[in-house]
Amino acid sequence: LPGEMFGTARRNSAGCDLTDISVREPLLRRLADLERKRWTGGEGNGERIEIRSPFDRAQVVGEVVETSPADLDAMLSRAAAAQAAWDAIGGEARARLLDRTADLFEAHREDFYSLCIREAGKSLPDAVLEVREAVDFLRYYAAEARRLATPVQLPGPTGELNELRHHGRGVWTCISPWNFPLAIFTGPVAAALAAGNSAIAKPAEQTPLIGALAVRLMHEAGIPADVVQIAVGDGKIGAALVSHRLTSGVAFTGSTAVARAINRSLAEREGPIVPLIAETGGQNAMIVDSSALPEQVTRDVVASAFQSAGQRCSALRVLFVQEDVADTMLTMIRGAMEALSIGDPRLPTTDVGPVIDADAKASLDAHVAELRAAGKVVAELRLPPNNGSFVAPVIAELPSLASLKDEHFGPVLHVIRWQSGELDKVIDQINATGFGLTLGLQSRIDTVAEQVAAKARVGNLYINRNQIGAVVESQPFGGEGLSGTGPKAGGPHYVARFATERVTCIDT
Ligand code: GLU
Repeated sequence: LPGEMFGTARRNSAGCDLTDISVREPLLRRLADLERKRWTGGEGNGERIEIRSPFDRAQVVGEVVETSPADLDAMLSRAAAAQAAWDAIGGEARARLLDRTADLFEAHREDFYSLCIREAGKSLPDAVLEVREAVDFLRYYAAEARRLATPVQLPGPTGELNELRHHGRGVWTCISPWNFPLAIFTGPVAAALAAGNSAIAKPAEQTPLIGALAVRLMHEAGIPADVVQIAVGDGKIGAALVSHRLTSGVAFTGSTAVARAINRSLAEREGPIVPLIAETGGQNAMIVDSSALPEQVTRDVVASAFQSAGQRCSALRVLFVQEDVADTMLTMIRGAMEALSIGDPRLPTTDVGPVIDADAKASLDAHVAELRAAGKVVAELRLPPNNGSFVAPVIAELPSLASLKDEHFGPVLHVIRWQSGELDKVIDQINATGFGLTLGLQSRIDTVAEQVAAKARVGNLYINRNQIGAVVESQPFGGEGLSGTGPKAGGPHYVARFATERVTCIDT
């Protein structure tokens, strides 16, 4: 069984049961207290930058010191110097430190909830999931460090002793996005460290305070300060890290355009040829046929399109619904969307919080204005008065996928009707986008599921459920084509990709 081949023994993260009022009420009180806290992050000689909440620009969350180009050089030199000793302590010792980091993340989970809400505008349920995922990444990659620490004896006809070992490559640059400011910040760093590398972690410029707390806790757990360091700043710092001669690998999550730029920069720089692991965007679809259960479709569409304000790269962007059931489905989906509450993510009743910043809002607003002008919008929530960057959930109908060129990273659901007998054409349209991240299918017909699974070029196919929230180890996550290079985050091939393989051959 695959589970037996790949399964790891590890504890699941504790999470937090928000449905239990005796848990939720005291938590909300402590989070209200934490709102007074001003966080800090970064060190060095760069500029001081104030970080403000996306739901209310008047609220200051804290301040960071940007990393200057001169700081960067020193950081990479320290990281490179520290790497050999870190590699030499072995996978078991590194795994223990990653497990200890996971325990500290759990002990500080309320600080992270507070920061995820205040700095990233996440809802409380999303913040809880975020911490769980980060903890799961740490523990799973710790287990992987243990597995990879055992040298592999290679069979063969040579009569010699052949042994394969994994080693760190050097310094990995890990550039992470604001939409998972803790989980995707932590995952690649933990994988790099597990494989015996040192790491420079570059959080998104919108969410450096969460990253700074994560790195402080890694140090508190006992991971040496030079082995994991944070570089604070915008894309210029990221570009400087990528092109630096001491960078031995780049793990990037973000847009396809930036992944291409990183690839170009790596190709052109001096020094060793190094790997890029890129997890990029999607034009994710869900296909609904006439056998699907309407209530389930409604629930799964609303979660996939609007949870996290649509700011997941897994989120549903294009719903393909079979014509015979389209009117019924759309009426139900529209009703469920209209029941969502949009607003301040500090309120436990909020379903949809803000988008990350004014630029994200401007770009989504421009797209929705275009859809509106073309008469395509069929439903739209009204925004409450606010001081932040909010975009109301929208449903728009399109004639085909051809008119949708870009990924719109927010709560905008596009709907396309399809005629029975045209399932193959639908899958062709989806494949033709060139993206291949998530795909949802709602159908009760086995042969339809087989047809879609055989033909769709996507990394994660979800049948009769929502298409967000991949679980570490159970649903390794990541796409193909324009959506990324693989290997999948939270999967059995991920950590090994951060390592280099060495074979020793002894003539006996
Ligand atoms: N892993 C996340 C999910 O399954 C998405 C990650 C991302 O948005 O980059 O929803």
